[in-house]
Amino acid sequence: MVNRIPLIAGNWKMFKTASEAVETAGQLVDLVADTTGVDIMIAPAFTALDPVSKVVADSRVGLGAQNLHWEKQGAYTGEISAQMLTASGCRYVLIGHSERRQYFGETDDTVNRKIRAALDADLLPVLCVGETEGERESGQTFSVLDKQVKIGLQGYVPQDLGSLIIAYEPVWAIGTGKTASREQAQEVHQYIRSLIETTFSPALAGAMRILYGGSVKPGNITDLMDMPDIDGALVGGASLEADSFSQIVKFN
Ligand code: PEP
Repeated sequence: MVNRIPLIAGNWKMFKTASEAVETAGQLVDLVADTTGVDIMIAPAFTALDPVSKVVADSRVGLGAQNLHWEKQGAYTGEISAQMLTASGCRYVLIGHSERRQYFGETDDTVNRKIRAALDADLLPVLCVGETEGERESGQTFSVLDKQVKIGLQGYVPQDLGSLIIAYEPVWAIGTGKTASREQAQEVHQYIRSLIETTFSPALAGAMRILYGGSVKPGNITDLMDMPDIDGALVGGASLEADSFSQIVKFN
């Protein structure tokens, strides 16, 4: 059985100025300095990446971005490239977060192109997938995930995807205080892993980290992490304070 190192990732969304982000990142670095056996990532706003990279350098905390464009450069007003992110110290990048899909026209096709851009720049892509409440209620959870994973990863071969991380984030659980039960989350994680196995390879499926996201807090992380196919968490609200995020990082 492959030992998958858990990843606890914080998505700071459109919160915190650069100086506020530097302050929280500094507190977090101190609070998690003695942790082992867990990878930690924070994804602040673009304007905070460069200053935060200096705070987290040589610490337990890795830096991520919340989005990227699929081209290396060009006339794409308001966008940012993978190369710009790596030059600002990023190691990870979120791709296809449900808020990008819902408000900014992100599709499975753009997700697919962005994954290529991230991999070409040696960034670790975190592909976000998940169903809406209506889709779950009408029994479409698995077909929605099937489409998001298959189109998002169309054209790739197993050797491309060794560094890919998937985050299962049921849209109805993001920022709502409603968490999927650990059984619900496990069922979907197991489904995603089997999808990777049949579409790509058992080895890739066994090694791939699949994170859960949706109202993760210090009080529910341990239960979630007990499940065999949950390899970490993508945390929004509870990652904004160093204290609560560090408690999640120290889930065991
Ligand atoms: C997220 O933004 O990815 C998220 C899971 O948010 P929250 O933890 O606030 O539900």
